[in-house]
Amino acid sequence: MKRLMLFAALSAVLVAAGCQNQQTSQNQDTNENKTVDKQTENQQAEQSQQEEDTAAEEQTAETKPDQHQDEAEDVVGSIEKPVTVDNPDSIEVVVNKTRKFPDGWQPKDLVEPDVPFYFSEHLEKRKMRKEAAEALEDLFAASQKDGMELVAASGYRSEERQKEIYENNVATQGQEETDKVSSRPGRSEHQTGLAIDLTSAEMALALEETFIDTDEGKWLAEHAHEYGYIIRYPEGKSDITGYSYEPWHIRYVGKDLAKQIYEENTTLEEHFQMESDLKS
Ligand SMILES: [Zn+2]
Repeated sequence: MKRLMLFAALSAVLVAAGCQNQQTSQNQDTNENKTVDKQTENQQAEQSQQEEDTAAEEQTAETKPDQHQDEAEDVVGSIEKPVTVDNPDSIEVVVNKTRKFPDGWQPKDLVEPDVPFYFSEHLEKRKMRKEAAEALEDLFAASQKDGMELVAASGYRSEERQKEIYENNVATQGQEETDKVSSRPGRSEHQTGLAIDLTSAEMALALEETFIDTDEGKWLAEHAHEYGYIIRYPEGKSDITGYSYEPWHIRYVGKDLAKQIYEENTTLEEHFQMESDLKS
């Protein structure tokens, strides 16, 4: 019941903010419930997810064009020859623009965390690896106790779907622009099943830097590590991570490592002394 009220409230916010893209997607999702043809359902879900992801990434690109410019120059030399990671199952795996998964790799223990998402359908992006999902439930429970109203937006993303998103962006924006804002297939951290984007009703469900100015964004920055999560792409570290500041994207690494990285004020790459990857 409480969940239903939240969705109703979020829909109202979306209408108020004029987020037609996402509102349309939600309507599509609702219609899908009534669709008997599974194939069509999946295609529609894919399409609406793609639109959202593209929209979110475009918004990010507009927020900090200069930062993205620097970032592209840093990664352009090494992006064509990525290293294949040898520990894809590890919760400490480092995947970025120069470090990719083995072809076709996918997590084996995906489950759906019991936390509020902004959509009601059982889409792929609702999934997380089991350990990360349980930690996320703890994180949400604690945040709700503190009066926060976090909403989950996008967790696991398969290599196939990342390929669709990437190719769609290349077709509309060209490869150079796309590489500034979008991961190539096999290099998205969402493929780990350990990363998830969170937002809030106050953000009208957008994934933008201003999330850090909201109570939910501040809470997340201060407490995520207590549940084994890090803010994966911190401010001022884009030359190291390859991504501009994303206060909404958290990554599960386990409590010990999360605490260390929080206290060091570092990134995964710095902690494992991998900075050179992106600059070589
Ligand atoms: Zn993300």
